Amino acid sequence: MKTKLFMKFPPNVTNTPVTYQLVKKFDLKFNILKAEIDYNLIGIILYDIEGKAGNISDAMDYVRSLGIECDMAPSGIVVSETLCNDCGLCTSVCAINALSISGPDWKLSYDAGKCIGCNQCIPVCPTRAITHGLYEELGA
Ligand code: SF4
Ligand code: SF4
Repeated sequence: MKTKLFMKFPPNVTNTPVTYQLVKKFDLKFNILKAEIDYNLIGIILYDIEGKAGNISDAMDYVRSLGIECDMAPSGIVVSETLCNDCGLCTSVCAINALSISGPDWKLSYDAGKCIGCNQCIPVCPTRAITHGLYEELGA
């Protein structure tokens, strides 16, 4: 199976070689979509992971046993072109730049491949143009 895994490293485990262990111990293939450490020394990594479902589950248990937050990234968001006025507010809360605005047209761009479904952008949108993808799929 293929999935996205989001990990958040507290400062005391930022240097733990998790990626190496994912390959060595659990035979997973991965692609790092995003990796950064903030000013509080908290690290985040977003992986595209491929491997046996049982191995992914075991890997998540292992990572959590190290004190690292680890979750499968849920569905992304849906942006209504009708409601969005390209104000850019949502881009300021999207830590992994799944939402961005750039020239020459200065239109909002959404990269679903990066989105981890954290929902941070939903409440900041003044026109309520953003909904969670799962919510949309359910027709709610
Ligand atoms: S839910 Fe919104 S803020 Fe979170 S990663 Fe996706 S686009 Fe960015
Ligand atoms: S905050 Fe809402 S209106 Fe503004 S760019 Fe983002 S989706 Fe569009």
